[in-house]
Amino acid sequence: MTKRIYFFGGGQADGDGTQKALLGGKGAGLHEMTRLGIPVPPGFTITSEVCTEFFASGEKMPEGLLAEARASVERIGELVGVRFGNVEAPLLVSVRSGARASMPGMMDTILNLGLNDAIVEGLSARMQNPRFALDAYRRFIVTYADVVLEIERKRFDEALEIARRKAAVTLGVDAARMTTAELQRKLPDSMLDVETLRSLVKEQRRIVAEVTGKPFPEDPWAQLEGAIMAVFRSWNNARAKTYRKMHDIPESWGTACNVQAMVFGNLGDDSGTGVCFTRDPSTGEKRFFGEWLPNAQGEDVVAGVRTPHPIARGGGDDEKSLEVRMPEAYTELVRVQDRLEKHFRDMQDMEFTVQAGKLYLLQTRNGKRTGRAGVRIAVEMVREGLITQREAVLRVDPQSIEQLLHPTIDAKAPKKLLARGLPASPGAASGQIVFHADEAERKAAQGLPVILVRAETSPEDIHGMKAANGILTARGGMTSHAAVVARGMGKCCVAGCSAVAISYETATMTVTIYDEAGRPTDTVSVRGGDVITLDGATGSVYLGAVPTAPAALSAEFEELMKWADEKRRLKVLANADTGADARTARSFGAEGIGLCRTEHMFFDDKRIAAVREMILSADVEARKRALAKLLPFQREDFVSIFHEMAGLPVTIRLLDPPLHEFLPHERKQIEDLAATMRVRPSDLTRKVEELHEFNPMLGHRGCRLAVTFPEIYEMQARAIFEAACEVAAGSSAPKLEIMIPLAMTRRELAMTKKSLERVAAEVFAEKGRKVDYLFGTMIELPRAALRAAELAEEAEFFSFGTNDLTQTTLGISRDDAGKFLGAYVESAILPKDPFTSLDVEGVGELVATACERGKKTRPNIELGVCGEHGGDPASIRFFERVKLDYVSCSPLRVPVARLAAAQAAITEESAGARTTD
Ligand code: ADP
Ligand code: MG
Ligand code: MG
Repeated sequence: MTKRIYFFGGGQADGDGTQKALLGGKGAGLHEMTRLGIPVPPGFTITSEVCTEFFASGEKMPEGLLAEARASVERIGELVGVRFGNVEAPLLVSVRSGARASMPGMMDTILNLGLNDAIVEGLSARMQNPRFALDAYRRFIVTYADVVLEIERKRFDEALEIARRKAAVTLGVDAARMTTAELQRKLPDSMLDVETLRSLVKEQRRIVAEVTGKPFPEDPWAQLEGAIMAVFRSWNNARAKTYRKMHDIPESWGTACNVQAMVFGNLGDDSGTGVCFTRDPSTGEKRFFGEWLPNAQGEDVVAGVRTPHPIARGGGDDEKSLEVRMPEAYTELVRVQDRLEKHFRDMQDMEFTVQAGKLYLLQTRNGKRTGRAGVRIAVEMVREGLITQREAVLRVDPQSIEQLLHPTIDAKAPKKLLARGLPASPGAASGQIVFHADEAERKAAQGLPVILVRAETSPEDIHGMKAANGILTARGGMTSHAAVVARGMGKCCVAGCSAVAISYETATMTVTIYDEAGRPTDTVSVRGGDVITLDGATGSVYLGAVPTAPAALSAEFEELMKWADEKRRLKVLANADTGADARTARSFGAEGIGLCRTEHMFFDDKRIAAVREMILSADVEARKRALAKLLPFQREDFVSIFHEMAGLPVTIRLLDPPLHEFLPHERKQIEDLAATMRVRPSDLTRKVEELHEFNPMLGHRGCRLAVTFPEIYEMQARAIFEAACEVAAGSSAPKLEIMIPLAMTRRELAMTKKSLERVAAEVFAEKGRKVDYLFGTMIELPRAALRAAELAEEAEFFSFGTNDLTQTTLGISRDDAGKFLGAYVESAILPKDPFTSLDVEGVGELVATACERGKKTRPNIELGVCGEHGGDPASIRFFERVKLDYVSCSPLRVPVARLAAAQAAITEESAGARTTD
């Protein structure tokens, strides 16, 4: 039988750090740390395979598992010298979730398990600390009730508030007019006395009995069983699902479950708990960095209810640092973090607890980081000799580097500073203030930029954080939920902005303004809907929208890109329609233009009238007259693009969209146009109606336009060739490629090719100069992919238009997919949104087929892709496998694609090496 439980403790562990898939990241880390001799409370891991089995059997505990778990709990007890369920010397455990990929706070964990009315008294006597024991007990009851019994947390929050108000009365605090938050600040949990805690626990147990109709489970073993099952089930809670979807984590993995002896950070002033990083997760700077809370349990730091103190000196109030308060524990922690980083050869994110002066590590994992930090850490680790260049290239998540290219706050722009918080996740964001996650989602869906403002965030807010442009919290530190999740999303976040007081009831935030000396001078009230700007790099919050400036790219970024460029095979081109786009694309390293859409030039205010005239002309002559007006505009556009791309390929796609997209629909526009064209408005209206299509995506568009109105492509060809001749005269000519959209037969290509050749000959004769060009087609229809052998007789290159090819292969219109595609991905009918990440099985097979057949006809045929997928790392891996020559994507995605292409080349190379072994 396969091993289901892996034990760790006493310097030995059944598992190790490589077994993330089986033991989860948290489990693997605990086993590895135990092996390294680092102080870790003993425990055991139930594998993620058991979780999969649990779901496969309809959420039933596998046979015999509980007996095994029981024996392992006894083993923990032997190591610690106490016993689970024993009244005099009780063992308490935590039951912790932990999957292969880290999903911070998304699944459930229960602390202090193993307490009941009798045991809490025993614990209190043994520790000589009744306050501590009762505090542990009331925390346990709430979490257990929430996670296992699924009772609304609100019930317990209310009970706590009532208890707090009663305690206030006895302490002589005038709490009557204080809000919940004010009272909580005045009288924090740590100040609740024994009597209050005792009656609170009683009330909590009463709530449980009332809601479930059964008393709170007294038997510690029954508690353990319930907790293990709940941890497994938490794999499928709503926030975990949202998180997985956002981060492309497969639904099938399941979570492991760790059961571990409790250590207590809430025993008094010589105890505490914290989170730390071997390097700064926000900037990547190499400095030991973290936060802690004295006299607290682990959950307090992450929840952000109390704002923690920096670990080391120099991070604020030195007197409150761990370094000053517990120098011995601090020194040991510094030693441990250094050892862990060298051992795992990556930045570590660690949890620790100090119990009565003694340090314990509770977690280590490769830390989440911003794109900027990721690049800096990878490059510096190469310089330090910790990793190779190849590893550095493989390590940085290509998706994360797009953030580096986003604009930052313009330092020179005038702005009004409101407040300053912690720079939790860099970037700049402006938007309307919203105070609730649902509202953020609603407004963002209407296209409004919003900033989510919360006292603190919790995993329930994740959909709102996703929808918001930026996140501002009043409480919580650099390791709070908001900060960690925002960094993972690459979203700007300012956390712990204590000058801000939020009232959800009145939808306002009141900001205290301080003078230079830190004295409060004024307050400003800002309402929901007002616009603010966040600077996540400095922690500044500004009133109104502050202009941004282009990002400055770091030397580390350039260095990493250089390494990537040395390792990739695929060329990376950009989709760019204007000279300005082309310049941006070049600055991000594009090696040419893989898609220049000519219709964008038509939408310009000055040109649209001529375009409409062209479309609505009654005869060829009138159409030619209108086209003649457009010709100089098009030529001008091409000249500017060609200048930017001297010596590089520029692939121009001739007109593609259905004509009706350009048409006027308002009465006034139609009347004006009718006047210019000297026709009756009613005739024009009729003509517009004639052009209406039921399904334009499959309608009169692409090269079908050229079949009915050959003059259009002829005008475009003339503009292109004239521009090319003009630029060639200055000897900065690009490598011209002309591309026909939506072809399905060889004949369409033959026809257009012939007319292009005729125009080319005319222009070359007029100008007394010739330019080279390639003639090619987009592959956007299944038929074109299947008949690629014939198409290649005319086409010198194929460019896979994977947006349309996906639509036409799956028979899904992208415009209408919103209603059902989400459900398809949610229920795993499709693994991912096929418009974001290529459907490798289906569309991919057509791509591979077309490549193969095209090459048979024309061995040196050039192959590329210009759909959205050209900038998607997973799709790029596929394009590497079928050996396309290039990918083309939007300018901002160019660096992403360069890095992803390098990773694909390295992965393919090592896959190749394996198969030939
Ligand atoms: P998450 O994945 O949400 O961080 P964890 O399982 O890591 O969940 O636990 C939540 C908090 O409880 C962490 O701060 C962790 O350090 C703390 N914790 C977990 N197990 C123990 C334990 N055995 N003793 C003390 N603290 C613990
Ligand atoms: Mg944790
Ligand atoms: Mg298309």
